[in-house]
Amino acid sequence: MLTISPTGLWTIDPPHLFMKLRAVTGMNDILPEESRAYQRLEQRFRAVVETYGFRELRTPIVEELALFHKSTGETSEVVQKQMFLLAKEGESLALRPEGTPSAARVYIGNKVHAREPVTKWYYIGPMFRAERPQRGRYRQFHQAGCELYGDPGPFADAEVIDMVYRLATDLGLRDVGVRLNTLGGSEARFEYRRRLTEYFTPRSAQLSEHAQARLSDNPLRILDSKDPRDQQACEGAPVLLDCLTDADRAHWQGLLAALDRLKTPYEIDPRLVRGLDYYTRTCFEVVTQSGNIGAQTAILGGGRYDDMLASLGGPPTPAIGFALGIERILLALGEHAHTDPPLVFFAPLGNAATLACLELAASLRAQGVWVELDGRGNSLKSMLRRADGMSARFCIVMGEQEAEQGTAQLKDLTAHDQKVLPQAQLVQAILDALASPSTSTGASPAPTSGSPT
Ligand code: AMP
Repeated sequence: MLTISPTGLWTIDPPHLFMKLRAVTGMNDILPEESRAYQRLEQRFRAVVETYGFRELRTPIVEELALFHKSTGETSEVVQKQMFLLAKEGESLALRPEGTPSAARVYIGNKVHAREPVTKWYYIGPMFRAERPQRGRYRQFHQAGCELYGDPGPFADAEVIDMVYRLATDLGLRDVGVRLNTLGGSEARFEYRRRLTEYFTPRSAQLSEHAQARLSDNPLRILDSKDPRDQQACEGAPVLLDCLTDADRAHWQGLLAALDRLKTPYEIDPRLVRGLDYYTRTCFEVVTQSGNIGAQTAILGGGRYDDMLASLGGPPTPAIGFALGIERILLALGEHAHTDPPLVFFAPLGNAATLACLELAASLRAQGVWVELDGRGNSLKSMLRRADGMSARFCIVMGEQEAEQGTAQLKDLTAHDQKVLPQAQLVQAILDALASPSTSTGASPAPTSGSPT
């Protein structure tokens, strides 16, 4: 469908020029009434992780494809099947499917280890995976995640897991559960792979086609297959806990003891392996029964990845991180539309009144109040209808005569009363009404800036 001419210009075959004027399947527009729910979740996320010392990192959404091959892992489903590739002459680029590789690239490239013994970063942004879209699974979705570099100990894991548990409950999710497992270090994993291969090879005829393919490249992934044939074959499979080295075991015990001390509930799930290749030792998922998120009950996933930075050419650096899926959490919370702070609507009639209202509106906005001014010269009736449609709390009506006399009519659309006030008192009267707890709506001023009192 796309052709490059010898001069390097792109052309699109005519049939592909036909477009349907809607977003690409699995990639959703976030309309203004929905984006408030995103903002709230993001604000809550920032507020919680910043108390643990995480600071925000922002990276491009496009990276070299090789970065994901080397970090997310060649055998991971994400890299094998779900990358959105961008071909540019001499470059192989990709839309990022996750945030961890970019953060690792920045950490290594900026030699952050040389100046900070421990580094804590968080990120928020869109990710792209060419998956089959379904409820809670999209091709563009948003993740918020954290990465902690430089602390190999189990207490770092405990703190991160405790943080995600608190975050999930703080967001209002119900029946939050932490599923936890250890994948051991590289030595244990090597041994475990060997035992799994030995176990599954004589049973390969009973496995799904997908699992048969995994047998040679990543037999661990057979363990989290949802196919009943694979699940049956997994019964009696060796368990990783038997392959742990003493150091892995001490780490695991240390983590469990710390979580017990923090009273963080968790459930050990020896089948939890997660879809990305790079995890070592601890891996975890947070699930919720809240709301309706379809088959996808996991809202967050993460783990330790102590070998990744060295494998990317960086200094050996222990690391642990996680990412949560914003859409999935919003689905679980059943949050889409949110009520905005109370709105003040100006309905001026004539130029003199509009100018006076512009000035009053500016004074209110400077106090953080949300203001809409209809300066189109429309009829009073249509302006009042619009104020109503926007659920405005107050409407200020100013005609030519009032503009001349320096007064205005203040309508409280919730309490259904109105009074005429000198313009000089109007701003204070609105601020007082918004701040008063006795107002019928219990409305308070917009939280976006300083208090108006
Ligand atoms: P992962 O990066 O695969 O470890 O996933 C971490 C979290 O991101 C999951 O628990 C989901 O909440 C979310 N997530 C992953 N893939 C998708 C997707 N295709 N659509 C929506 N959310 C996703």
